[in-house]
Amino acid sequence: MIKTKKRGQLYVISGPSGCGKDTIVNSLLKKNKNLWLSISCTSRAPRGNEKDGVEYFFLSEEEFEKEIENDGFLEYAKYAGNYYGTPKKSIEEHLNNGEDVILVIEIQGALKIKNLLPETLFIFILPPSMKELKRRLEGRGTEDKEKIDKRFLRAYEEINEVGKYNYVVVNDEVKNAVEKVNAILISEKCRVDRILELDVDNIEEEIHEALVK
Ligand code: ADP
Ligand code: 5GP
Repeated sequence: MIKTKKRGQLYVISGPSGCGKDTIVNSLLKKNKNLWLSISCTSRAPRGNEKDGVEYFFLSEEEFEKEIENDGFLEYAKYAGNYYGTPKKSIEEHLNNGEDVILVIEIQGALKIKNLLPETLFIFILPPSMKELKRRLEGRGTEDKEKIDKRFLRAYEEINEVGKYNYVVVNDEVKNAVEKVNAILISEKCRVDRILELDVDNIEEEIHEALVK
């Protein structure tokens, strides 16, 4: 009766460092087999157990700049002194394949995507309080005090931009936040403008058949 568009949906998730974006997205990926997470490139050093090609593709600053020259990024930005960028290749491939694609990127990059691909859905994750954000950043134990302070100060600037997003979710409890983001993803898939064709003739036939039975 209803045929929906085959092209997948692009989602962007942003929020201050340490608010829980990766925690939420990892859980969404387990729930949603049709969701593909784009792996970004960065010039920052791997931290802890991070592996090249898993959390990021780790490039030197020179390699990253060469990739900019080659027009290899859909968007890129500098954050806390390092480059971060979304590889162009494969995003279109996955979308055309009918898979939904998720980008976990900071706000400058998100705004570029908004201009390039306006049909994208933008979700902003907030911590329950700035005190809790600091506790999570420190608790993660992946940055030294100087880097934590840089990211924490940047959080104030980022939170000011929340009005540019379609949805905002407070990550108080992981389970609640994942449920809310998942509900947003599901409702987006049910939007009327995702319907390719509504076969009215068929509906009449179906009604007739149902009445005769
Ligand atoms: P981001 O990807 O936004 O930088 P992470 O997902 O790495 O943030 O989370 C930062 C830290 O906060 C991690 O140690 C994570 O386990 C913890 N965390 C995430 N969500 C919550 C939550 N709702 N309650 C308590 N701790 C959380
Ligand atoms: P982290 O160093 O904590 O992994 O990431 C720092 C920030 O860079 C986070 O806000 C993260 O979402 C963002 N980020 C990661 N990949 C990209 C990307 O490809 N482009 C942009 N613009 N930001 C990114």
